[in-house]
Amino acid sequence: MKKTNILLLFLFSIDIFSVGEVFVINDYKDMDRIINFPNTEKYKVIVADLHTHSVFSDGAVWPNVRVEEAVRDGIDLLAITEHLEYQPHIDDIPHPDRNRSFDIAEDIAKNKDLTVINGAEITRMFPPGHINAIFIEDANKLIYLDEAKISEAKEILKEVPEESLTNYEDLSWLEDAALASLWPVKSALIEARNQNAFTFWNHPAWSSEEFIGQPMLREIHKEFFRDNLLHGIEVANGDGYSEEAFRIALEYGLTVLGTSDVHGLIDWDYPSSIGAHRPVTLILSESNSIDAIKSSLFSGKTVVWFKNNLIGLEDNILELTNSYLKAKKVEILENSDIARVEIENVSDVRFIIQVLDQSSVVNESNLIEIAPNEKTVLQIDSGIDKGSLDVKILNAFIAPNKNLLTTLKF
Ligand SMILES: [Zn+2]
Ligand SMILES: [Zn+2]
Repeated sequence: MKKTNILLLFLFSIDIFSVGEVFVINDYKDMDRIINFPNTEKYKVIVADLHTHSVFSDGAVWPNVRVEEAVRDGIDLLAITEHLEYQPHIDDIPHPDRNRSFDIAEDIAKNKDLTVINGAEITRMFPPGHINAIFIEDANKLIYLDEAKISEAKEILKEVPEESLTNYEDLSWLEDAALASLWPVKSALIEARNQNAFTFWNHPAWSSEEFIGQPMLREIHKEFFRDNLLHGIEVANGDGYSEEAFRIALEYGLTVLGTSDVHGLIDWDYPSSIGAHRPVTLILSESNSIDAIKSSLFSGKTVVWFKNNLIGLEDNILELTNSYLKAKKVEILENSDIARVEIENVSDVRFIIQVLDQSSVVNESNLIEIAPNEKTVLQIDSGIDKGSLDVKILNAFIAPNKNLLTTLKF
């Protein structure tokens, strides 16, 4: 009896029950990794990655790594969105509660400059493919195993090619996955709507080889848009960008998103040594509150930053470029009409601009790179009174293949 007490005391005293304590990672700051998009005068700019995975579905890391990576990248808002149905690690890491990875991540993020929200990936074959629901209250209610359909589920499994199963020792979890996939996706989306979730269509262009030669938009998607069950669409996922997804977003008024959908390590997928960064969604929000951020997502106030491109609605991109590219006349060169104009870029985007009035700039070609977080000086010859330059931003897209036109005032 006494021995047991001592053992219990020992176990509790080393705090083994707090994952946050056990998995502390040093908080070394790699400034090259920090994604820098300052607030504009009107909006908070929330840097968000709303699609990530951990070992609680098919990812390769514990949720704390997702949190630490996000902090290092300067992410403000993170969703860990496990596949509800596809659970290849479930025998090693049994977790009847599908909110578990969120609970762990939220706990670890408590004292950090990062907000973690609950999310899930509703996973079905195409169509409709995969759909994320974020700001959910309870992931468990988005999955349902209807035991009456077990023989139907077994039939589905017979069609899975054997070679795709060789990675797994125990296949019992697949039966549950097949059973879960038989619950209509619409029922899951209605539950998500009951929880006031924001939902978006994941990687529409690259989730299945079925897309080859076929339009990706099907009747079921249109029905979900109409019924307010699907609110956004990923135009960028991982290392891919889809113009067709952007076109669908514009046609159906969907919010555009860019996400990492990371399964392994962010730094391996996006090494800072080569200046890479994960795709993010920049949310233009009235305040830092969750309600305000959510409302901006519903009203389409987002810009995707993918590789070195800004993708989104014209008004939203203009809000950013007006704030991030500040031009001012610093001097008029002696005995001339040439003005030295300094353009300060306070963001992480390397803006590639084409000057539309070709005769204006005298010290550069009409194609100019405005380096991130630096000042670039142009010499402009158009008369002392000229106070603006019309430009096309070649890496800002307001529609497929359509660049932002704007005016730099100085
Ligand atoms: Zn997916
Ligand atoms: Zn995913």
